[in-house]
Amino acid sequence: MKTVQKNVIIIGSGPAGYTSALYLARAGYSPLVIAGALTPGGQLMNTTEVENYPGFADGILGPDLMEAMQKQAEKFGAQILLNDVISVDFNGDLKAVTTDDGVTYTSKAVIVSTGSQVRKLGVPGEQEYSGRGVSYCATCDGFFFREKPIVVVGGGDSAFEEALFLTRFGSCVTLIHRRDSFRASKIMVDRARKNSKINFVLDSVVCSVNGVDGDAQSVTVKNVKTGETQNIEASGIFVAIGHSPSTSFLDGALDLNEDGTISVQGASTKTSVPGVFAAGDVVDSVYRQAISAAGMGCRAALDAQAYLNDLTDLNEQ
Ligand code: NAP
Repeated sequence: MKTVQKNVIIIGSGPAGYTSALYLARAGYSPLVIAGALTPGGQLMNTTEVENYPGFADGILGPDLMEAMQKQAEKFGAQILLNDVISVDFNGDLKAVTTDDGVTYTSKAVIVSTGSQVRKLGVPGEQEYSGRGVSYCATCDGFFFREKPIVVVGGGDSAFEEALFLTRFGSCVTLIHRRDSFRASKIMVDRARKNSKINFVLDSVVCSVNGVDGDAQSVTVKNVKTGETQNIEASGIFVAIGHSPSTSFLDGALDLNEDGTISVQGASTKTSVPGVFAAGDVVDSVYRQAISAAGMGCRAALDAQAYLNDLTDLNEQ
């Protein structure tokens, strides 16, 4: 098995990972960013206009923002690897990270910034019609539902953003939410309420996705207050009910919180293992913004640098 030693390894490539990479690269550490095989760039790659990342008065497309972050980190010497991490060994001073091509990378400091992955409904038909009507990305799949009825499930900013975006394609968009109030910001809710193509089905949960000949055709929805069920015609079913932290590859190597995020010490990015730091949505279940992830990525880079400097000082004594 091939083993390669690096100064510092960053696992994950969203705003947190690329910001850590930028800081560590500018500090001369030539960090290795293991960016992921399928989803380098993280969640912003599936977003359209980002209006709230400071510095872009006219907004910027999510993929463009991530490409710019990657280039900026590479410009100063970060190395980007398009592989997935399959296992880690954080015992001992030299941490080991193994990728899906069988290579093990080692370094004295590691930053975990793997973000989170889409949450699923877990109802009959969801898996069966995934890619045949059920989707988790309006930007990727909205186009396929031109002049067709669409439903969006969820009550957060993602659901509203997707519902508004999908009005460009669908004959109508029905937003189904399990409560009658929304987690989404007021500006998004107001925009959706003003859009005549969007209907709301509230206090309701999806019980199943139904289809014919392999394609989704409707969802069965139950009102949680009255118990009544109804079928809503839908060729596209966009699930936008949040995300779960991506930590399965850690296999218990770091302490996690009850909600599945990585536990860090106080306001730092220090995890339960010295030399391993964590930043972004994999740590943060509260703020979860590109800018807050980027900020935490900066802190992780500075924490990692301080750790590596302390190790050097100890060795020189
Ligand atoms: P979120 O804010 O966690 O909202 C998830 C929504 O899904 C909630 O309404 C939740 O209902 C619902 N939900 C969760 N599990 C469910 C289940 N099993 N069945 C049915 N419904 C379920 O997630 P998000 O919308 O993906 O947003 C994540 C973060 O990104 C937020 O901080 C958000 O502000 C941010 N964001 C910002 C923008 C923007 O500013 N343009 C765009 C997208 C996302 P309850 O409300 O009942 O819990």
